[in-house]
Amino acid sequence: MSTEKELQSRSESKCELCGSTKNLTVYQVPPDSNDRADQCLLICDTCQQQINDPDNVDINHWRCLNDSMWSQVPAVQVVAWRMLTRLSSEGWPQELLDMLYLDDETLTWAQATREGQHSEETVAHVDSNGTVLSAGDTVTLIKDLNVKGANFTAKRGTAVRGISLVLDNPQHIEGRVNGQQIVILTQFVKKFN
Ligand SMILES: [Zn+2]
Repeated sequence: MSTEKELQSRSESKCELCGSTKNLTVYQVPPDSNDRADQCLLICDTCQQQINDPDNVDINHWRCLNDSMWSQVPAVQVVAWRMLTRLSSEGWPQELLDMLYLDDETLTWAQATREGQHSEETVAHVDSNGTVLSAGDTVTLIKDLNVKGANFTAKRGTAVRGISLVLDNPQHIEGRVNGQQIVILTQFVKKFN
C-alpha cells in the first residue's frame, strides 16, 4: 500500500490536524523526513502553509488542536506539540500544552526542530532605526511614553541605561526609568552611541 493510501485510510481522508477534507497532501514531519506513514501526516494546505510560515498564522485555525492533539498517532502529537508551543504566548495553547502528554520518544521527536527555543539569530531586538540592541546598551526614548501601572510619563529623550532584552519578545526591552523597571517597546527607542 502506498504511503498516501495508508494515510488516507488512517485519517479517513481528513486533515489529521483540522479535519478539513479539502486539498489534502502528505506532510513529512521534520527533521528526519521520510515517506513512511508513521513519519507523515495527511494535512490540508491551510495547515501546511501555516506550519511552514510562522509569520502568517491564524491562531483561531489552530483551535482544531483541541481535538486532534488527542490522536493516538505520534506524528500528529508531534505537530500538535510544535504548533501549541509556537503559539503558547496566546494563553489557551499553553493550557492545551499543559494537558498534552507525550511519551519520551515522541517528546524527543517533537523537540527535534527546537520549536520554542530561541537562538540569538531568530530573536533580534532592533531599535527604531533598525540598529540591533544588546543587553547592557543605553537607549534614549524617541517619544513620551505613558507607563502602564505607574503614574508617570517617561519623557522623550530620557536615557535608559543597561537595558535587558525580553527573550521571548523581540519587540520588548526592559530598563529602569524613574527608578522603576519598565517594559519598553523597541520601536520607541534609539540606541545611544
Ligand atoms: Zn488542516
